[in-house]
Amino acid sequence: MRVSSLFMPTQREVPADAEIISHQLMLRAGLMRKVASGIYSFLPMGYRAFRKVENIVREEMDRAGAQELIMPAVLPAEVYMASGRWDKFGPEMFRLQDRSGRSFCLGPTHEEPFTEAVRDNVRSYRQLPITLYQIQHKYRDEKRPRFGVMRAREFVMKDAYSFDADEQGLDRSYQAMYEAYCRIFDRCGLDYILVHADSGAMGGSGSQEFMVKSDVGEDAIAYCPVCEYAANEEKAPCPEVAPFDGETEAVEKIHTPNFRTIEELMAFLGLPPTEFAKTLLYDIDGKIVAVMVRGDREVNDVKLKNLFDATEVVLAGPADVERVTGAAVGFAGPVGLAEPIPVIADHEIVAMGNFVVGANETDYHLKNINIGCDFQPTQVADVRSAVEGDPCPSCGKPLAMCRGIEVGHIFKLGTKYSEALGCNYLNSDGEEKPMIMGCYGIGVGRTLAAIIEQHYDKDGIIWPISVAPYQVIIVPTNSTDGMINTMASEIHDRLAKSGVEVLLDDRDERPGVKFKDADLIGIPLRVTVGRKAAEGKVEFKHRIGGEVTELTPDEAIAEVLRMIGR
Ligand code: ATP
Ligand code: MG
Repeated sequence: MRVSSLFMPTQREVPADAEIISHQLMLRAGLMRKVASGIYSFLPMGYRAFRKVENIVREEMDRAGAQELIMPAVLPAEVYMASGRWDKFGPEMFRLQDRSGRSFCLGPTHEEPFTEAVRDNVRSYRQLPITLYQIQHKYRDEKRPRFGVMRAREFVMKDAYSFDADEQGLDRSYQAMYEAYCRIFDRCGLDYILVHADSGAMGGSGSQEFMVKSDVGEDAIAYCPVCEYAANEEKAPCPEVAPFDGETEAVEKIHTPNFRTIEELMAFLGLPPTEFAKTLLYDIDGKIVAVMVRGDREVNDVKLKNLFDATEVVLAGPADVERVTGAAVGFAGPVGLAEPIPVIADHEIVAMGNFVVGANETDYHLKNINIGCDFQPTQVADVRSAVEGDPCPSCGKPLAMCRGIEVGHIFKLGTKYSEALGCNYLNSDGEEKPMIMGCYGIGVGRTLAAIIEQHYDKDGIIWPISVAPYQVIIVPTNSTDGMINTMASEIHDRLAKSGVEVLLDDRDERPGVKFKDADLIGIPLRVTVGRKAAEGKVEFKHRIGGEVTELTPDEAIAEVLRMIGR
């Protein structure tokens, strides 16, 4: 392919609304184009890379025994009403009506239509197991579409659904998908970790997320560098600790005006922040609750939500805080609250003695507070976020923290949808039983963006060969030199004939411009035909690592073929 005829609108400038590297580079390298918020077109270069990822996914799904089909994106409301998700999806679901007023949605995920398709066509245990999948557009009206195709409103997902006769069957289907996912993300050149998305306990997990390690990931992950344990920050349990058993001292009330942070306050008192117990007031489904964590810890909203089995957890507004504490915001504490509200203390508070709290009086704090003597929490519970160094719940070694991009999710559904939609089979005794299901998703566009997040440098993308839109680019340095051009074209043609995806930068541009573009679009291998063409030499270079080797055209061709495994 000749670069002069390529539809590849590269940009020099970093687009203003692109916050993360992959989004910036995908726009700058002309891989895609924004059409509306969270809605993108893939341009030829981007679509080639996208199809590479899609094909890796397809090959591994097929290898695992899953069968591909395609469902419509426009789906009748009834399908989702039967499962209760027509209401549950809320504003995230794109809804529409046809000319006669019948309701439809644009499919956000397809458990229901797959379950119906199997329900209507599979009757006997002899026809099970079955795993079906599709690679198709999904529609979710995300609250905050951002980061380009990473969190889009229209995006391509590979979604697979397994149907089994019993739990052991589900375990096998799940395992096959698990292995396929590992191969997919390995082939994409991704460094990922597997996170237990439910209890975080090791083994027997019913839901795992494949997380690509990245600072721009939206999920905080606690993982153990020693054993395989990894969990979302809010799922990683923090241990109970031994209670304080030292001498208690007399309570002191201290005038503490004008301190903006815990650190400032504690510096004034000559104490570390670990001697302070923060009291935060939360509005949990309309009820105000005080939550205490050590001064250097953060309350975890998800843990709090689970503790109360609540639907909404938000920090209480200033009016509520002032009413409940009888003081300005910033002086809440467990002792002398103006209104009797539940006080939840994190496990670590129990280990603290003679600590500092807000006095529920503007500009005052209390020193030497102790549980039992000065107040009694309503409940002691795990409500803080795990931090680096906390003991691994599985092996006890210190946990590390990282951020991750969720690229895939595998989930044991059980009979949730089969029972709701009547997807039954007859077992060998002729009894009717609900099928046992699993569902398995991969965001194709998000995976592509995640690959870029892990493979770039200051000059642009560095595609792994497995997903590169083109594997090699031939750069003649002087387009007016007949000999150079002939040699470059010959190398291009010979590689193309061998089935290599090859670009020839035949543009009338300075070599610097061509090199810059080749680096930006991230082509893994480059063959430069320049001054030494007369001596029968070209320059061979990998996109990553700057080393240039002089080779004959034959050697360069052999090296390209070797690199792409032909
Ligand atoms: P998230 O927590 O990021 O919203 P999710 O839990 O809603 O993800 P699933 O419903 O499990 O995601 O979807 C399966 C896969 O589809 C995800 O692992 C992700 O790769 C991809 N995906 C989900 N939402 C989006 C989106 N808005 N844009 C791009 N890809 C997405
Ligand atoms: Mg989501």
